[in-house]
Amino acid sequence: MDGFRALPSVDQVLLSPAGAALIAGHGRASVREALRARLDEMRDAIRAGEDGAVLAARLPDLVGADLAARARTRLRPMLNLTGTVLHTNLGRAILADEAVRAAVVAMANPLALEFDLETGGRGQRDDHLRGLLVELTGAEDATVVNNNAAAVLIALNTLAQGREAVVSRGELIEIGGAFRMPDIMARAGAKLVEVGTTNRTHPRDYQDAITPGTGVILKVHTSNYRIEGFTAEVPAPQLSLIAREARVPLVNDLGAGSLVDLSAWGLTREPTVAEAVAEGADLVTFSGDKLLGGPQAGFIVGRRDLIAAINRNPLKRAVRLDKIRIAALEATLRLYRDPDRLAERLPTLRMLARPAAEIAAQAARLAPKIHVLLEPLGFAAAPCGCASQTGSGALPVDTLPSAGLRLTGQGGDAPDRLAAKLRALPCPVIGHIHDGALILDLRCLDDDQALISALTAL
Ligand SMILES: *Cc1c(COP(=O)(O)O)cnc(C)c1O
Repeated sequence: MDGFRALPSVDQVLLSPAGAALIAGHGRASVREALRARLDEMRDAIRAGEDGAVLAARLPDLVGADLAARARTRLRPMLNLTGTVLHTNLGRAILADEAVRAAVVAMANPLALEFDLETGGRGQRDDHLRGLLVELTGAEDATVVNNNAAAVLIALNTLAQGREAVVSRGELIEIGGAFRMPDIMARAGAKLVEVGTTNRTHPRDYQDAITPGTGVILKVHTSNYRIEGFTAEVPAPQLSLIAREARVPLVNDLGAGSLVDLSAWGLTREPTVAEAVAEGADLVTFSGDKLLGGPQAGFIVGRRDLIAAINRNPLKRAVRLDKIRIAALEATLRLYRDPDRLAERLPTLRMLARPAAEIAAQAARLAPKIHVLLEPLGFAAAPCGCASQTGSGALPVDTLPSAGLRLTGQGGDAPDRLAAKLRALPCPVIGHIHDGALILDLRCLDDDQALISALTAL
Protein backbone atom coordinates (compact mmCIF):
# COMPACT_ATOMS: atom_id res chain seq x y z
CA MET A 1 0.00 0.00 0.00
CA ASP A 2 3.04 2.26 0.39
CA GLY A 3 3.10 2.51 -3.37
CA PHE A 4 -0.11 4.57 -3.36
CA ARG A 5 1.43 7.04 -0.91
CA ALA A 6 4.17 7.80 -3.44
CA LEU A 7 1.54 9.28 -5.78
CA PRO A 8 0.81 13.01 -5.31
CA SER A 9 -2.77 14.29 -5.03
CA VAL A 10 -4.30 16.25 -7.89
CA ASP A 11 -4.08 19.45 -5.81
CA GLN A 12 -0.44 18.89 -4.95
CA VAL A 13 0.43 18.72 -8.62
CA LEU A 14 -1.74 21.76 -9.45
CA LEU A 15 0.19 23.80 -6.84
CA SER A 16 3.64 22.62 -7.98
CA PRO A 17 5.75 24.57 -10.51
CA ALA A 18 5.17 21.82 -13.10
CA GLY A 19 1.43 22.09 -12.49
CA ALA A 20 1.51 25.88 -12.86
CA ALA A 21 3.24 25.53 -16.22
CA LEU A 22 0.59 23.07 -17.42
CA ILE A 23 -2.22 25.34 -16.20
CA ALA A 24 -0.69 28.28 -18.08
CA GLY A 25 -0.72 26.23 -21.27
CA HIS A 26 -3.99 24.34 -21.02
CA GLY A 27 -6.19 25.78 -18.28
CA ARG A 28 -6.90 24.46 -14.79
CA ALA A 29 -9.95 22.33 -15.63
CA SER A 30 -8.19 20.41 -18.42
CA VAL A 31 -5.07 19.80 -16.31
CA ARG A 32 -7.18 18.55 -13.40
CA GLU A 33 -9.06 16.13 -15.66
CA ALA A 34 -5.87 14.84 -17.31
CA LEU A 35 -4.23 14.36 -13.89
CA ARG A 36 -7.20 12.39 -12.58
CA ALA A 37 -7.13 10.08 -15.58
CA ARG A 38 -3.39 9.38 -15.27
CA LEU A 39 -3.56 8.93 -11.47
CA ASP A 40 -6.37 6.37 -11.89
CA GLU A 41 -4.20 4.46 -14.33
CA MET A 42 -1.23 4.61 -11.99
CA ARG A 43 -3.24 3.22 -9.08
CA ASP A 44 -4.18 0.27 -11.26
CA ALA A 45 -0.53 -0.16 -12.21
CA ILE A 46 0.54 -0.14 -8.55
CA ARG A 47 -2.08 -2.79 -7.76
CA ALA A 48 -0.50 -4.81 -10.55
CA GLY A 49 2.86 -4.52 -8.80
CA GLU A 50 4.53 -1.44 -10.30
CA ASP A 51 6.64 0.97 -8.31
CA GLY A 52 4.65 4.06 -7.17
CA ALA A 53 7.68 6.35 -6.90
CA VAL A 54 8.78 5.59 -10.46
CA LEU A 55 5.27 6.23 -11.74
CA ALA A 56 4.94 9.47 -9.74
CA ALA A 57 8.15 10.81 -11.25
CA ARG A 58 6.72 10.37 -14.75
CA LEU A 59 3.35 11.98 -13.96
CA PRO A 60 4.00 15.60 -15.09
CA ASP A 61 5.54 14.52 -18.38
CA LEU A 62 2.76 12.06 -19.15
CA VAL A 63 0.05 14.58 -18.36
CA GLY A 64 1.91 17.21 -20.39
CA ALA A 65 2.04 14.84 -23.36
CA ASP A 66 -1.67 13.95 -22.97
CA LEU A 67 -2.64 17.60 -22.95
CA ALA A 68 -0.37 18.47 -25.88
CA ALA A 69 -1.83 15.60 -27.91
CA ARG A 70 -5.34 16.77 -27.14
CA ALA A 71 -4.50 20.38 -28.03
CA ARG A 72 -3.07 19.44 -31.41
CA THR A 73 -5.67 20.00 -34.07
CA ARG A 74 -6.15 17.55 -36.88
CA LEU A 75 -6.81 20.53 -39.09
CA ARG A 76 -3.17 21.58 -39.00
CA PRO A 77 -1.50 22.55 -42.29
CA MET A 78 -0.04 19.68 -44.28
CA LEU A 79 1.76 19.13 -47.56
CA ASN A 80 -0.41 17.75 -50.34
CA LEU A 81 2.12 15.77 -52.38
CA THR A 82 -0.50 13.32 -53.66
CA GLY A 83 -0.28 14.69 -57.17
CA THR A 84 -4.00 15.56 -57.08
CA VAL A 85 -4.17 19.35 -57.13
CA LEU A 86 -7.84 19.72 -56.18
CA HIS A 87 -8.01 16.94 -53.59
CA THR A 88 -11.53 16.86 -52.14
CA ASN A 89 -10.41 15.03 -48.98
CA LEU A 90 -7.68 17.61 -48.42
CA GLY A 91 -10.00 20.59 -48.81
CA ARG A 92 -9.77 21.28 -52.57
CA ALA A 93 -8.55 24.72 -53.67
CA ILE A 94 -5.95 26.70 -51.73
CA LEU A 95 -7.07 30.32 -51.76
CA ALA A 96 -5.18 33.25 -53.24
CA ASP A 97 -3.55 35.63 -50.75
CA GLU A 98 -6.08 38.29 -51.77
CA ALA A 99 -8.94 35.95 -50.83
CA VAL A 100 -7.34 34.94 -47.54
CA ARG A 101 -6.90 38.58 -46.55
CA ALA A 102 -10.50 39.40 -47.48
CA ALA A 103 -11.75 36.44 -45.43
CA VAL A 104 -9.71 37.52 -42.39
CA VAL A 105 -11.11 41.06 -42.59
CA ALA A 106 -14.64 39.67 -42.87
CA MET A 107 -14.13 37.39 -39.88
CA ALA A 108 -12.85 40.13 -37.62
CA ASN A 109 -15.13 43.03 -38.55
CA PRO A 110 -18.72 44.03 -39.16
CA LEU A 111 -19.28 44.71 -42.85
CA ALA A 112 -22.08 45.82 -45.14
CA LEU A 113 -23.22 42.30 -45.93
CA GLU A 114 -26.91 43.13 -46.34
CA PHE A 115 -26.65 46.86 -45.95
CA ASP A 116 -26.63 49.53 -48.64
CA LEU A 117 -23.85 51.98 -47.82
CA GLU A 118 -25.35 54.62 -50.16
CA THR A 119 -28.91 54.73 -48.84
CA GLY A 120 -28.44 53.19 -45.41
CA GLY A 121 -31.23 50.78 -46.30
CA ARG A 122 -31.29 47.03 -46.64
CA GLY A 123 -28.98 45.42 -49.20
CA GLN A 124 -28.68 41.93 -50.69
CA ARG A 125 -25.83 39.62 -49.72
CA ASP A 126 -25.56 38.23 -53.25
CA ASP A 127 -25.05 41.72 -54.70
CA HIS A 128 -21.36 41.63 -53.77
CA LEU A 129 -20.84 38.81 -56.27
CA ARG A 130 -23.63 39.30 -58.79
CA GLY A 131 -21.90 42.05 -60.79
CA LEU A 132 -18.63 40.17 -61.06
CA LEU A 133 -20.34 36.93 -62.06
CA VAL A 134 -22.39 38.67 -64.73
CA GLU A 135 -19.26 40.39 -66.03
CA LEU A 136 -17.18 37.19 -66.11
CA THR A 137 -19.81 34.86 -67.57
CA GLY A 138 -21.93 37.07 -69.83
CA ALA A 139 -25.07 35.82 -68.04
CA GLU A 140 -28.04 38.07 -67.30
CA ASP A 141 -28.00 37.38 -63.59
CA ALA A 142 -26.39 35.19 -60.93
CA THR A 143 -26.94 33.78 -57.48
CA VAL A 144 -24.69 31.92 -55.03
CA VAL A 145 -25.28 29.01 -52.65
CA ASN A 146 -23.35 26.70 -50.36
CA ASN A 147 -21.87 24.41 -53.02
CA ASN A 148 -22.64 23.12 -56.48
CA ALA A 149 -24.66 20.21 -55.09
CA ALA A 150 -26.93 22.82 -53.48
CA ALA A 151 -26.99 24.79 -56.73
CA VAL A 152 -28.29 21.75 -58.62
CA LEU A 153 -30.74 20.92 -55.84
CA ILE A 154 -32.30 24.37 -55.63
CA ALA A 155 -32.37 24.84 -59.42
CA LEU A 156 -34.21 21.53 -59.90
CA ASN A 157 -36.52 22.17 -56.97
CA THR A 158 -37.41 25.62 -58.27
CA LEU A 159 -38.02 24.55 -61.87
CA ALA A 160 -39.27 20.98 -61.58
CA GLN A 161 -40.84 20.24 -58.19
CA GLY A 162 -43.77 17.91 -58.90
CA ARG A 163 -42.77 17.89 -62.56
CA GLU A 164 -40.49 15.89 -64.80
CA ALA A 165 -36.77 16.45 -65.23
CA VAL A 166 -35.38 15.04 -68.47
CA VAL A 167 -31.76 13.86 -68.46
CA SER A 168 -29.61 11.60 -70.63
CA ARG A 169 -28.79 8.13 -69.26
CA GLY A 170 -25.15 8.85 -70.08
CA GLU A 171 -25.13 11.77 -67.64
CA LEU A 172 -26.66 10.24 -64.49
CA ILE A 173 -23.46 10.58 -62.55
CA GLU A 174 -22.33 9.91 -59.01
CA ILE A 175 -19.88 12.54 -57.85
CA GLY A 176 -18.78 10.76 -54.71
CA GLY A 177 -20.15 10.45 -51.22
CA ALA A 178 -23.92 10.51 -51.41
CA PHE A 179 -24.20 12.82 -54.40
CA ARG A 180 -25.94 10.86 -57.11
CA MET A 181 -27.89 12.74 -59.71
CA PRO A 182 -31.03 10.54 -59.46
CA ASP A 183 -31.10 10.95 -55.65
CA ILE A 184 -30.70 14.72 -55.85
CA MET A 185 -33.54 14.85 -58.35
CA ALA A 186 -35.77 12.86 -56.02
CA ARG A 187 -34.94 15.16 -53.08
CA ALA A 188 -35.66 18.16 -55.28
CA GLY A 189 -39.13 16.73 -55.84
CA ALA A 190 -38.54 16.17 -59.54
CA LYS A 191 -39.51 13.02 -61.37
CA LEU A 192 -36.53 11.69 -63.28
CA VAL A 193 -37.15 10.92 -66.94
CA GLU A 194 -34.13 9.13 -68.41
CA VAL A 195 -33.57 9.38 -72.12
CA GLY A 196 -31.20 7.68 -74.55
CA THR A 197 -28.77 4.94 -73.54
CA THR A 198 -25.56 4.90 -71.56
CA ASN A 199 -23.40 5.62 -74.61
CA ARG A 200 -25.75 7.34 -77.07
CA THR A 201 -28.44 9.97 -76.73
CA HIS A 202 -30.00 11.68 -79.75
CA PRO A 203 -32.09 14.83 -80.23
CA ARG A 204 -35.24 12.83 -80.83
CA ASP A 205 -34.77 11.07 -77.47
CA TYR A 206 -35.22 14.41 -75.76
CA GLN A 207 -38.01 15.52 -78.09
CA ASP A 208 -39.97 12.30 -77.51
CA ALA A 209 -39.64 12.63 -73.72
CA ILE A 210 -40.91 16.18 -73.42
CA THR A 211 -44.52 16.40 -72.23
CA PRO A 212 -46.66 19.20 -70.77
CA GLY A 213 -45.41 17.90 -67.38
CA THR A 214 -41.74 18.55 -68.15
CA GLY A 215 -40.23 21.12 -65.79
CA VAL A 216 -36.62 21.10 -66.89
CA ILE A 217 -34.06 19.54 -69.20
CA LEU A 218 -30.83 18.89 -67.33
CA LYS A 219 -27.46 18.51 -68.99
CA VAL A 220 -24.68 17.27 -66.72
CA HIS A 221 -20.98 17.56 -67.44
CA THR A 222 -19.76 14.00 -66.93
CA SER A 223 -16.91 15.34 -64.95
CA ASN A 224 -15.38 12.28 -63.33
CA TYR A 225 -15.44 9.80 -66.18
CA ARG A 226 -15.45 9.68 -69.93
CA ILE A 227 -17.34 7.34 -72.21
CA GLU A 228 -15.31 6.51 -75.27
CA GLY A 229 -15.97 4.64 -78.50
CA PHE A 230 -19.43 4.48 -80.07
CA THR A 231 -20.94 7.49 -78.38
CA ALA A 232 -23.29 10.35 -79.13
CA GLU A 233 -24.52 13.20 -77.02
CA VAL A 234 -26.62 16.16 -77.99
CA PRO A 235 -24.39 19.23 -77.93
CA ALA A 236 -25.61 22.04 -75.70
CA PRO A 237 -26.42 24.48 -78.54
CA GLN A 238 -28.69 21.91 -80.20
CA LEU A 239 -30.25 20.90 -76.89
CA SER A 240 -30.96 24.54 -76.16
CA LEU A 241 -32.91 24.84 -79.43
CA ILE A 242 -34.96 21.77 -78.47
CA ALA A 243 -35.59 23.26 -75.03
CA ARG A 244 -36.57 26.64 -76.45
CA GLU A 245 -38.96 25.12 -78.95
CA ALA A 246 -40.64 23.15 -76.15
CA ARG A 247 -40.55 26.20 -73.83
CA VAL A 248 -38.76 24.19 -71.17
CA PRO A 249 -35.70 25.62 -69.37
CA LEU A 250 -32.33 23.95 -69.94
CA VAL A 251 -29.99 23.68 -66.95
CA ASN A 252 -26.35 22.85 -67.69
CA ASP A 253 -24.49 21.53 -64.63
CA LEU A 254 -20.86 22.15 -65.53
CA GLY A 255 -19.34 20.93 -62.27
CA ALA A 256 -15.80 22.29 -62.32
CA GLY A 257 -16.73 25.20 -64.57
CA SER A 258 -13.68 27.26 -65.43
CA LEU A 259 -14.03 30.99 -65.98
CA VAL A 260 -11.09 31.09 -68.39
CA ASP A 261 -9.88 28.99 -71.31
CA LEU A 262 -7.26 26.78 -69.65
CA SER A 263 -5.53 26.04 -72.95
CA ALA A 264 -3.90 29.47 -72.57
CA TRP A 265 -1.81 27.81 -69.82
CA GLY A 266 -1.12 24.63 -71.78
CA LEU A 267 -3.93 22.69 -70.10
CA THR A 268 -6.73 20.74 -71.74
CA ARG A 269 -9.63 22.91 -72.81
CA GLU A 270 -12.67 22.62 -70.57
CA PRO A 271 -15.88 24.36 -71.60
CA THR A 272 -15.92 27.74 -69.87
CA VAL A 273 -18.96 29.07 -68.05
CA ALA A 274 -19.24 31.92 -70.55
CA GLU A 275 -19.34 29.38 -73.39
CA ALA A 276 -22.05 27.36 -71.66
CA VAL A 277 -24.07 30.56 -71.23
CA ALA A 278 -23.50 31.56 -74.87
CA GLU A 279 -24.57 28.08 -76.02
CA GLY A 280 -28.04 28.90 -74.80
CA ALA A 281 -28.43 27.18 -71.41
CA ASP A 282 -31.05 28.99 -69.35
CA LEU A 283 -29.07 28.27 -66.19
CA VAL A 284 -25.48 27.11 -65.67
CA THR A 285 -24.27 25.72 -62.33
CA PHE A 286 -20.65 25.30 -61.19
CA SER A 287 -18.43 25.00 -58.11
CA GLY A 288 -16.41 27.67 -56.30
CA ASP A 289 -13.61 25.41 -55.05
CA LYS A 290 -12.80 23.38 -58.16
CA LEU A 291 -11.08 24.97 -61.17
CA LEU A 292 -12.25 28.40 -60.09
CA GLY A 293 -9.83 28.19 -57.16
CA GLY A 294 -11.96 29.81 -54.46
CA PRO A 295 -13.73 28.67 -51.29
CA GLN A 296 -16.55 26.12 -51.32
CA ALA A 297 -19.56 27.63 -53.08
CA GLY A 298 -22.07 26.91 -55.82
CA PHE A 299 -22.90 29.42 -58.54
CA ILE A 300 -26.04 29.61 -60.64
CA VAL A 301 -25.90 32.02 -63.56
CA GLY A 302 -28.41 32.62 -66.32
CA ARG A 303 -31.86 34.01 -67.08
CA ARG A 304 -32.98 36.82 -64.80
CA ASP A 305 -36.52 35.50 -64.24
CA LEU A 306 -35.25 32.04 -63.30
CA ILE A 307 -32.60 33.45 -60.93
CA ALA A 308 -35.33 35.56 -59.30
CA ALA A 309 -37.47 32.43 -58.85
CA ILE A 310 -34.54 30.62 -57.23
CA ASN A 311 -33.95 33.55 -54.89
CA ARG A 312 -37.61 33.39 -53.82
CA ASN A 313 -37.37 29.67 -53.03
CA PRO A 314 -37.39 29.21 -49.21
CA LEU A 315 -34.55 26.69 -49.66
CA LYS A 316 -32.30 29.61 -50.62
CA ARG A 317 -32.12 30.70 -46.99
CA ALA A 318 -31.01 27.19 -46.00
CA VAL A 319 -28.17 27.07 -48.52
CA ARG A 320 -26.96 30.67 -48.46
CA LEU A 321 -23.34 31.71 -47.96
CA ASP A 322 -21.79 33.37 -44.92
CA LYS A 323 -19.91 36.68 -45.02
CA ILE A 324 -16.48 35.03 -44.83
CA ARG A 325 -16.92 33.08 -48.00
CA ILE A 326 -18.65 35.94 -49.80
CA ALA A 327 -15.63 38.14 -49.04
CA ALA A 328 -13.19 35.44 -50.20
CA LEU A 329 -15.20 34.79 -53.35
CA GLU A 330 -15.36 38.45 -54.23
CA ALA A 331 -11.57 38.73 -53.92
CA THR A 332 -11.09 35.53 -55.96
CA LEU A 333 -13.43 36.62 -58.74
CA ARG A 334 -11.72 40.02 -58.95
CA LEU A 335 -8.47 38.23 -59.88
CA TYR A 336 -10.15 37.03 -63.08
CA ARG A 337 -10.38 40.63 -64.28
CA ASP A 338 -6.64 40.39 -64.95
CA PRO A 339 -6.08 37.04 -66.72
CA ASP A 340 -2.44 37.93 -67.47
CA ARG A 341 -1.54 37.70 -63.80
CA LEU A 342 -4.00 34.95 -62.89
CA ALA A 343 -1.49 32.08 -62.78
CA GLU A 344 0.76 34.15 -60.53
CA ARG A 345 -1.97 34.92 -58.04
CA LEU A 346 -4.33 31.94 -58.08
CA PRO A 347 -2.63 28.90 -56.49
CA THR A 348 -4.88 26.34 -58.23
CA LEU A 349 -3.96 27.62 -61.67
CA ARG A 350 -0.32 28.15 -60.72
CA MET A 351 0.01 24.52 -59.62
CA LEU A 352 -1.89 23.12 -62.59
CA ALA A 353 0.22 25.15 -65.01
CA ARG A 354 3.65 24.42 -63.48
CA PRO A 355 5.97 23.15 -66.22
CA ALA A 356 7.12 19.53 -65.76
CA ALA A 357 10.75 20.59 -66.32
CA GLU A 358 10.58 23.00 -63.39
CA ILE A 359 9.16 20.27 -61.12
CA ALA A 360 11.84 17.82 -62.33
CA ALA A 361 14.56 20.32 -61.44
CA GLN A 362 13.01 20.68 -58.00
CA ALA A 363 12.98 16.89 -57.56
CA ALA A 364 16.65 16.63 -58.58
CA ARG A 365 17.52 19.42 -56.13
CA LEU A 366 15.55 17.95 -53.22
CA ALA A 367 16.29 14.23 -53.62
CA PRO A 368 19.80 14.21 -52.04
CA LYS A 369 18.62 16.37 -49.12
CA ILE A 370 15.61 14.18 -48.42
CA HIS A 371 17.75 11.07 -48.82
CA VAL A 372 20.04 12.28 -46.05
CA LEU A 373 17.03 12.76 -43.73
CA LEU A 374 15.53 9.34 -44.49
CA GLU A 375 18.68 7.19 -44.59
CA PRO A 376 19.04 6.86 -40.79
CA LEU A 377 15.47 5.49 -40.73
CA GLY A 378 16.28 2.88 -43.36
CA PHE A 379 14.65 4.59 -46.34
CA ALA A 380 16.04 6.00 -49.58
CA ALA A 381 14.90 8.88 -51.79
CA ALA A 382 15.47 9.30 -55.52
CA PRO A 383 13.98 11.65 -58.11
CA CYS A 384 11.31 10.16 -60.39
CA GLY A 385 8.79 11.09 -63.04
CA CYS A 386 5.11 10.84 -62.17
CA ALA A 387 1.69 12.00 -63.33
CA SER A 388 -0.48 14.56 -61.54
CA GLN A 389 -4.22 14.92 -61.78
CA THR A 390 -6.47 17.93 -61.56
CA GLY A 391 -8.85 16.19 -59.16
CA SER A 392 -12.42 16.93 -58.01
CA GLY A 393 -13.72 15.42 -61.20
CA ALA A 394 -12.21 18.12 -63.37
CA LEU A 395 -10.42 16.96 -66.53
CA PRO A 396 -10.83 13.33 -65.38
CA VAL A 397 -8.85 11.41 -67.93
CA ASP A 398 -5.98 13.80 -68.46
CA THR A 399 -2.87 13.54 -66.38
CA LEU A 400 -0.22 16.21 -66.17
CA PRO A 401 3.40 15.08 -66.56
CA SER A 402 5.10 15.79 -63.27
CA ALA A 403 8.06 14.81 -61.13
CA GLY A 404 8.66 13.85 -57.54
CA LEU A 405 10.55 11.76 -55.06
CA ARG A 406 10.43 7.98 -55.00
CA LEU A 407 10.85 6.79 -51.41
CA THR A 408 11.75 3.14 -50.85
CA GLY A 409 12.78 0.88 -47.97
CA GLN A 410 13.30 -2.76 -47.01
CA GLY A 411 10.31 -5.09 -47.01
CA GLY A 412 6.98 -5.12 -48.80
CA ASP A 413 5.34 -2.95 -46.16
CA ALA A 414 8.00 -0.19 -46.40
CA PRO A 415 5.80 2.28 -48.36
CA ASP A 416 2.91 1.86 -45.91
CA ARG A 417 5.18 2.20 -42.87
CA LEU A 418 6.77 5.35 -44.25
CA ALA A 419 3.39 6.79 -45.28
CA ALA A 420 2.17 6.30 -41.69
CA LYS A 421 5.25 8.07 -40.30
CA LEU A 422 4.73 11.00 -42.66
CA ARG A 423 1.04 11.28 -41.73
CA ALA A 424 1.98 11.49 -38.04
CA LEU A 425 4.37 14.44 -38.49
CA PRO A 426 3.55 17.83 -36.91
CA CYS A 427 3.19 18.99 -40.53
CA PRO A 428 1.83 15.81 -42.18
CA VAL A 429 3.17 14.94 -45.63
CA ILE A 430 0.78 12.98 -47.86
CA GLY A 431 1.97 11.15 -50.95
CA HIS A 432 0.67 8.13 -52.82
CA ILE A 433 1.87 4.55 -53.02
CA HIS A 434 2.73 3.29 -56.47
CA ASP A 435 4.69 0.30 -57.64
CA GLY A 436 6.28 -0.57 -54.27
CA ALA A 437 7.30 2.98 -53.37
CA LEU A 438 5.90 6.05 -51.68
CA ILE A 439 5.79 8.80 -54.31
CA LEU A 440 5.83 12.46 -53.30
CA ASP A 441 4.63 14.44 -56.34
CA LEU A 442 6.19 17.90 -56.03
CA ARG A 443 3.72 19.78 -58.26
CA CYS A 444 2.00 21.38 -55.25
CA LEU A 445 5.19 22.11 -53.29
CA ASP A 446 5.85 25.83 -53.61
CA ASP A 447 8.74 25.92 -51.20
CA ASP A 448 11.54 23.31 -50.96
CA GLN A 449 12.20 24.28 -47.37
CA ALA A 450 8.66 23.37 -46.30
CA LEU A 451 9.31 19.71 -47.14
CA ILE A 452 12.80 19.68 -45.61
CA SER A 453 11.45 21.20 -42.37
CA ALA A 454 8.51 18.80 -42.25
CA LEU A 455 10.76 15.75 -42.68
CA THR A 456 13.38 17.01 -40.23
CA ALA A 457 10.80 16.26 -37.51
CA LEU A 458 11.20 12.55 -38.31
C1 LIG B 1 -18.42 18.45 -58.39
C2 LIG B 1 -19.70 18.40 -59.10
C3 LIG B 1 -20.90 18.64 -58.41
C4 LIG B 1 -20.91 18.93 -56.93
O1 LIG B 1 -20.27 20.14 -56.68
P1 LIG B 1 -19.82 20.52 -55.17
O2 LIG B 1 -19.34 21.94 -55.31
O3 LIG B 1 -18.77 19.56 -54.79
O4 LIG B 1 -21.03 20.42 -54.33
C5 LIG B 1 -22.08 18.60 -59.13
N1 LIG B 1 -22.08 18.33 -60.45
C6 LIG B 1 -20.96 18.10 -61.14
C7 LIG B 1 -21.03 17.80 -62.61
C8 LIG B 1 -19.72 18.12 -60.50
O5 LIG B 1 -18.59 17.88 -61.17
